[in-house]
Amino acid sequence: MHWVLPKPVFPVCLPVIAVHGGATVFEKKYHPTILDVVKKAAKMSMYALEQGGSALDAVETAIWILEETSLFTAGLGASKNRDGEIELDAMIMDGNRLQSGAVMAVQNIAHPISLARYVLERTSNSQIVGTGANKLYEQMLAEGYRNETSYHRTERPIITQGCDTVGAIVVDKNGLIVSGSSTSGWPGKLPGRVGDSPIVGAGVYANDIAGASCTGKGEQILRITMGRMSVFHVEQGLSVQESAETVMAELRQKTSGEAGLILVDRLGNVAIQYDTPHMPVALISKDMKDIYCSMTPKWPVG
Ligand code: ASP
Repeated sequence: MHWVLPKPVFPVCLPVIAVHGGATVFEKKYHPTILDVVKKAAKMSMYALEQGGSALDAVETAIWILEETSLFTAGLGASKNRDGEIELDAMIMDGNRLQSGAVMAVQNIAHPISLARYVLERTSNSQIVGTGANKLYEQMLAEGYRNETSYHRTERPIITQGCDTVGAIVVDKNGLIVSGSSTSGWPGKLPGRVGDSPIVGAGVYANDIAGASCTGKGEQILRITMGRMSVFHVEQGLSVQESAETVMAELRQKTSGEAGLILVDRLGNVAIQYDTPHMPVALISKDMKDIYCSMTPKWPVG
């Protein structure tokens, strides 16, 4: 299954922003709301660029908005682990510098994506876990890097089967690529379990050629280092669409996994590939009159 992209949209004018809300099954009555929020995330991400922000700002903005909605199993919508606790994973990667920041199993925060960016920009490390990440959060607030945000959670209805990680890729006007993702992982996971989402080359990867953000069963995505491999295929000369199809086929064949990914190259070509019933995606580029946004595999062609 692949998305049919309308001719006038590609090749596109940079910048390009692609946002996803997880490869899963969403209850039908929530589709309009979900589409509205991924659209809003893409729009606000573009606004961040228009205001002079960087690709890092734009990815953080998009993911921050999705973490805030309580609709996805990320940020305020997180699902609980086996012990009834919430542990969040997030990662952001700057493709130009091949640098990333990630936090894993962090608790009591609303926006792990901002903390992941703090790790990238203000520490000499790339991955911080658990209580160490929570200490770093206190340091981040004390430095005024970001303000404290409300951690108020309301019990939300279950609108998805399983899990729905959120992710975003931004290619700025100079072709610099940033990719990120945020999740609470699978409901009922073992305490301390970390999936693919905050692992370089598994859930997220970016370099100066392309960026990927994946979603699905982390244990399977890790086995084929899906994010890195999808970008590798682009480096080897495949189109983003061919590369996305190649890694999805490998995942299916070698792990029986179901997943989804967005893959964008430095020219702004976008592939969206998944084998779950739904994967909400919003896509916007400089020359698009409107945001393309869909739950299902086909863009409105024409
Ligand atoms: N990949 C995430 C994880 O395994 C879940 C998802 O993408 O829905 O933690």
